[in-house]
Amino acid sequence: MKLRTFSIIKPDAVAAGHAGAILSMLEEVGFKILALRMTRLTQSQAEGFYAVHRERPFFPSLVKFMTEGPLIVMALEREDAVAKLREVMGATNPANAAEGTVRKRLAQSIERNCIHGSDAPETAEVELRYFFSTLDLQG
Ligand code: GDP
Repeated sequence: MKLRTFSIIKPDAVAAGHAGAILSMLEEVGFKILALRMTRLTQSQAEGFYAVHRERPFFPSLVKFMTEGPLIVMALEREDAVAKLREVMGATNPANAAEGTVRKRLAQSIERNCIHGSDAPETAEVELRYFFSTLDLQG
């Protein structure tokens, strides 16, 4: 069954001109783009989105990074969408990411790692609702 997930092309990748390359990599492995928007996060939006990490030492730096410039939010559809996106993204730290993944190819550091992908189907639905309406998600 086709499922959907949520992704962000993060500010580092947009600023570096990697948005097109990342979209190509996602389409090449069969993701359909259901919805897509360039936006900017306010500090409170970034804090809310990453609330699960608020006690972590890197939280202030992560929020600063995610608010530094435009980013692209996306709803993606595919068989096994959540797991497949995590596979194509690669490990959080690009030093540990597998060859051919987005993070291995394009990311600079464990923080500035180009792409977000939901970690579970339930998280995906919450994150999709953070940015998109039912109408947006019709594809
Ligand atoms: P993801 O699911 O692979 O994106 O990783 P996490 O959910 O664990 O972390 C969310 C985001 O926080 C990551 O994508 C990074 O941008 C950032 N991050 C995670 N771990 C670290 C860390 O140890 N240091 C710093 N500076 N940022 C981190």
